[in-house]
Amino acid sequence: MLDLLSPAQQDPILSLSLAYRDDPREHKMDLGIGVYRDSHGQTPIMQAVKAAQQSLAQSQQTKAYVGLAGNENFNQAMVDLLLKGTDAYDRCAAVQTPGASGALRMLADLMNLAKPVTTVWLTDPSYVNHKPVMEAAGLTVKFYPYFNRDTKMVDTDAMLNALSQAGADDVVLLHGCCHNPTGADISLKEWEAITELANRNGFTPFVDIAYQGFGDGVEEDARGLRILADNVEEMLIATSCSKSFGLYRERTGAAIVVGKSAKEAQNAKGRILQLARSTYTMPPDHGAAIVETILTDDALTKQWRDEIEAMNTRINALREGLTAALRDRTGDGYFDFIQHHRGMFSVLGLTGEQVATLRDKHGVYAVGDSRINIAGLAERHIDRLADALVDVTR
Ligand code: PMP
Repeated sequence: MLDLLSPAQQDPILSLSLAYRDDPREHKMDLGIGVYRDSHGQTPIMQAVKAAQQSLAQSQQTKAYVGLAGNENFNQAMVDLLLKGTDAYDRCAAVQTPGASGALRMLADLMNLAKPVTTVWLTDPSYVNHKPVMEAAGLTVKFYPYFNRDTKMVDTDAMLNALSQAGADDVVLLHGCCHNPTGADISLKEWEAITELANRNGFTPFVDIAYQGFGDGVEEDARGLRILADNVEEMLIATSCSKSFGLYRERTGAAIVVGKSAKEAQNAKGRILQLARSTYTMPPDHGAAIVETILTDDALTKQWRDEIEAMNTRINALREGLTAALRDRTGDGYFDFIQHHRGMFSVLGLTGEQVATLRDKHGVYAVGDSRINIAGLAERHIDRLADALVDVTR
């Protein structure tokens, strides 16, 4: 049987990491893979996470199964972080999942269960896994205009125009903040306009929020999502602790459903649990136990909020520094979009050839669609990156 399989396609980001590893040049710069890095190029364990791990090591009494929905205190903490104070708060339900990836798949399976004719609309471009996950669940995928390749910002008119065509059989997937890959986020005015369209035309909004706290702050980054939560009857949310708590390998996330009533949300939760049962059954415990420990302790919560604030301050300072260095060299504002983007990523709008020159001539590793990870940039490399970008674009 196994001989019938054709080879799997190489993952482009993984191949890029291998090429970077084997590059002997001292001055090489890895702006590829999507993890947060500090100025020393490390992906540190947050202090709040270390403290929570220590406390768990002392207090945990058993490794017996937790349950299909995972850690319910964690689930409540995720709901509090996103939806507290909104109209949706009392009519939502959450399930712990293996990362936001698990949430995306469970919610996709749920949509297929509820309405197999569903078409999921994704931003053009979107997170590389969105399309395969939705399609693996049997759903139809369609892209809506999002990123303007000239301005490198959101093409508001084209986006709203396309979304005005979405109807009752459609689900519109939105990035809660820090759009992956482009870095171009929608404004609060655009969140309001999309909310109005959802209510007028009947599509269901689905928010994937994988970088809460990496844009303008933990609360600020949830503002768009909360506009929807205050105004629509139904919505789906996939959330992740991979970036916000630095728990990448612990596979920690949640699927949240908002229904017309608490009963409807609980019913949907029951169906998600049934779907989980027939796949991974239960999510891994450790990451969720860490997040629960942090978010149920005022001092640890404050420490975590301070740490994430320091991370987004660093990212936004790098954005400003790089933009200023590029302004100095070009004498114009062509690259100002870097400063306006939010989160770890920016798509620079370079051609494949320019991306290859960046790598081969300058040792700068960006993903093929010219996505760079701003957090991968060390402060001392800003000038060299600016020189390289000017060289390949002018
Ligand atoms: N959604 C988006 C937009 C992402 O960028 C990512 C991961 N990079 C995920 C979901 C999946 O996150 P997780 O590691 O929690 O599965």
